[in-house]
Amino acid sequence: MHASQPVDPECIFCRIVSGTIPCHRLYEDEDVLGFLDVGPVSRGHALIIPKGHWATLDQVPADVAAAAMRVAPRLSRAIMNATGAEAWNVLQNNGKLAHQAVDHVHFHIIPRTSDAGLEIGWPSGSLGDEDAAALVAAIARGMN
Ligand SMILES: [Zn+2]
Repeated sequence: MHASQPVDPECIFCRIVSGTIPCHRLYEDEDVLGFLDVGPVSRGHALIIPKGHWATLDQVPADVAAAAMRVAPRLSRAIMNATGAEAWNVLQNNGKLAHQAVDHVHFHIIPRTSDAGLEIGWPSGSLGDEDAAALVAAIARGMN
């Protein structure tokens, strides 16, 4: 388990972790909980959350983020087998503008079929060489 697992008593996911609010549990280990989303986009829509309360992904300790992704392939496989879906999205939103509804990091696993699942509008732009170079330099400075 990670050394410190912050808790926000007002957070619905922290209350699910503590057992105050029930969930349809799919997976649990010392760092991570997986359960069905109660407002599913499609059948089998599930969440993987760290047990500790971190609002956005950039705040999550690397070992906890790794623990969440360690279970993602196995849980995704099991959900696809159970639902018969052949495609799925893993979605992780950070911040209200990016549609984060609960301020406790969570990864959605959303099965996709021809008639159900996540609809994505993807407005592809273009990347200019000058801006790419500026971005690479700025991001590299931040990778400490
Ligand atoms: Zn929380």
